[in-house]
Amino acid sequence: MVIPAALLLSIQNVQGFHEESFLQVHAAQQPPTSIRINAAKWDKVTLPFASSGIVPWCSTGYFLPQRPSFSQDPLWHAGAYYVQEASSMALQLVFDQLVPFAQQSSLKVLDLCAAPGGKSTHVLSMLRPTDVLVSNEVIGSRVNILLENITRWGAAHTIVTNNDPADFTPLQGLFDVMVIDAPCSGSGLFRRDPQAIEEWSEPAVEKCRQRQERILADAWPALKEDGILVYTTCSYSPSENEQMVDWMHDHFECASLQVQTDPSWGIVETASPKHGHKCYRFFPNLVRGEGFFMAIFQKKEPVQEMIFPKKKVNAKQEIPTASLMKEWVQETGALQLYKHKDTLYAMPTETYELFLGLQDALRIRKAGVCLGEWMHNGLQPDHALAMSHLLHPSIHRVELSLPDALQFLRKETVVVEASTKGWMLATYEAIPLGWIKHLGNRTNNYYPKEWRLRK
Ligand code: SAM
Repeated sequence: MVIPAALLLSIQNVQGFHEESFLQVHAAQQPPTSIRINAAKWDKVTLPFASSGIVPWCSTGYFLPQRPSFSQDPLWHAGAYYVQEASSMALQLVFDQLVPFAQQSSLKVLDLCAAPGGKSTHVLSMLRPTDVLVSNEVIGSRVNILLENITRWGAAHTIVTNNDPADFTPLQGLFDVMVIDAPCSGSGLFRRDPQAIEEWSEPAVEKCRQRQERILADAWPALKEDGILVYTTCSYSPSENEQMVDWMHDHFECASLQVQTDPSWGIVETASPKHGHKCYRFFPNLVRGEGFFMAIFQKKEPVQEMIFPKKKVNAKQEIPTASLMKEWVQETGALQLYKHKDTLYAMPTETYELFLGLQDALRIRKAGVCLGEWMHNGLQPDHALAMSHLLHPSIHRVELSLPDALQFLRKETVVVEASTKGWMLATYEAIPLGWIKHLGNRTNNYYPKEWRLRK
């Protein structure tokens, strides 16, 4: 693996950079494999895999001694964990130390560059059901993978959108927290993706830098006064990192926020050259993770917060609330049901209110949990309900063996022993995989065909 000389030259003076060990780690080592547990689904004391250590900055992050075949693990399909590079999990430092949960009973969070959903699923785990995450991806072809991962994760307090950052500009002062995991030149992932080396060039870095400026400038108005912006990249280039942070100070009123880190973790604290803003760098020769950069801003500009006009809804929705609540959905907090044509959705009240407000401004691809279609004979449940934390605990379940679970995920027929007919949840290690309808002499497999396991 040959690291571009121009990149090495550009980072010579970055605090914590040691060329020899940096090159060594790229030549000699495979990147570590790490997962983040979905504690809302996997609440067992033991982990789904043998672990080779904890990710010290993330309470749900674990290293694995080798990379298993995740696609052959039903628990991955069930959303019991997310496979995520460890350095990126440092987002938890911000949510643990800086996000004002104690002061506000409901926060609005935007993840602007969200696909495939690593940061969004992490944020969802750190938020309360009364908070709302808007998880946005501009590139249409990448929205589906984001929708899949968010659906698997199972949280109802989320809205997925497919918009350009400029579409957020009019939403003045709406968000308490923004995560901008910017598209970048990707040098931090060279070890994992050697192909990225071939695509790296100085003009490509410059193009990314210009795009990052545009993204930050477009999104900034939508942050509240005193709101928090977390800017991250997986690039080593100062022009996308510390210099971008200085660019923010040159154009906007903002303050530098810091997080506490433990020196033994190997995270390097740098400062932007012009404004001395504290930044965090992750070098793979110093941390057990890949290259990563993080800086945290607090907005120090007054903002005229936008107010959504009140909307009248639900007048004629005729939702069969009592029957839904009794059979399908457990009400863990204030839940709002919503009907669009014959499809039913559920979400916490705060998510619902934001969904109504954003309907005219953004291209919404998902809000809350789709419960299913309301038919003359009751609910035909949606896969999203099987994945969600809203599932009623009394729904009939059938536990599958590993071969049967894989067969189910391939959308093949599985034979189940059940004395009752009707809808039931196929589970693996007690975690729902999807819906089966037992008809007495046979069963129908309702696993979504577009999610089907292919081998
Ligand atoms: N946050 C994601 C995660 O943790 O899984 C990874 C995000 S990736 C680093 C950057 C994302 O920005 C990509 O999904 C990419 O499609 C999106 N993107 C590309 N161009 C963009 C633009 N002009 N504005 C906003 N997002 C863009």
